Amino acid sequence: MIDSQITDKLFSHLVMLRRWFHQHPELAFDEANTAQRIITELEHLDIAYDYAGVGHAVIGRIRGQDPDKSTIGLRAEMDALPGTESTGASYTSINPGKMHACGHGAHMAMLLGAADMLVKNPPPGPVNLIFQPAEESGGGARTAITDGALQNVVAIFAGHVTHEYVTGQIMVRDDLVTAQSDRFVIRIRGKGGHGARPHETTDAIVISGFLITALQTLVSRETNPLHSAVVTIGKVRAGSAANIIAEEAELEGSIRTFRSEVRRHIHHGMERMIGAVAELHNAEIEISISEGYPSVVNEPVATAVARKAAREIVGDENVVVSEFPSMGSEDFAYYLGNVRGAFVRFGARATDWEPVPLHNPAFDIDEKVLAIGANFYNRVARLAHAQIAHDQTGELINGV
Ligand SMILES: [Zn+2]
Ligand SMILES: [Zn+2]
Repeated sequence: MIDSQITDKLFSHLVMLRRWFHQHPELAFDEANTAQRIITELEHLDIAYDYAGVGHAVIGRIRGQDPDKSTIGLRAEMDALPGTESTGASYTSINPGKMHACGHGAHMAMLLGAADMLVKNPPPGPVNLIFQPAEESGGGARTAITDGALQNVVAIFAGHVTHEYVTGQIMVRDDLVTAQSDRFVIRIRGKGGHGARPHETTDAIVISGFLITALQTLVSRETNPLHSAVVTIGKVRAGSAANIIAEEAELEGSIRTFRSEVRRHIHHGMERMIGAVAELHNAEIEISISEGYPSVVNEPVATAVARKAAREIVGDENVVVSEFPSMGSEDFAYYLGNVRGAFVRFGARATDWEPVPLHNPAFDIDEKVLAIGANFYNRVARLAHAQIAHDQTGELINGV
């Protein structure tokens, strides 16, 4: 039913490849052997590629029937996670302290499967096969973009295996797919002194009290109630004794948002309130925000193309939509900051399996999903070429 486009021979090859990747996990920006294995496969298929060395993306470049047309990008991740695998599979990690618990080995195999199909039956125009480093930490998508992953690319697609759905299902969600998560630290500096003589001091604890309450209003009073946002202060550190007024206080917390405008507003709002509270109390306050990955927001035209490809591969009834976006994050968002694209999920749980979450040491996939993923990438690249055409300015001139 599902794998009509993939030959048995190619499927067996993908199973072998994904087991090899799974057994030889490497961490973010250190994917040396993984990249080499991909390169061997690309050379075998006679696909030109760019690779600037360890820590960089391997970008296979399929020319297609007309190499002057715009390019479609397909993305897989190369990195694994720290931890000790507990799947008990014959292909369990042989690299101590490293495990492919996010299924990236499967994604690489799927993309190489699509590469095989795209070489044997060329698509209308070029396709970039983007094998990026460091999705789990460090935002390797940005490295891939610097490496030229998006050169001439007008639409990009990626998928991720999951046990939330059974094998044979593909989840395609419009608009928001994952959350944005940022962390912050606020440092308040006042003037310490005797607990009985507050007029000689600037009390950092009283100031933090004002700030903790004020910051909550960024969500309750300044954010559209239909747009989700969370500002959590999870750690407060200040003071040393009951009769000493604290000179310093430190607040740490995290921000969760889905929309970039909401995120920007909260970042600016925090700075605004901090400036005002510092002025109000004659203190020094500074904030540092470490930005996590932006939200993945599927673009409508690319999502329609992805949904069409998914329907062709698994049938209408097996293309599902999750009710809510995920609170997880994904660095695929960086590509979507540059070009239209869509991120889907491939169900990878056999019907009689208990679901295991991603990143769990026991996470493994039902290997049938390799055929589904390879077919999906192959189809979506062709459909995107047929249905997303652009003029010279890159504006959409026809869609679906
Ligand atoms: Zn992961
Ligand atoms: Zn992942």
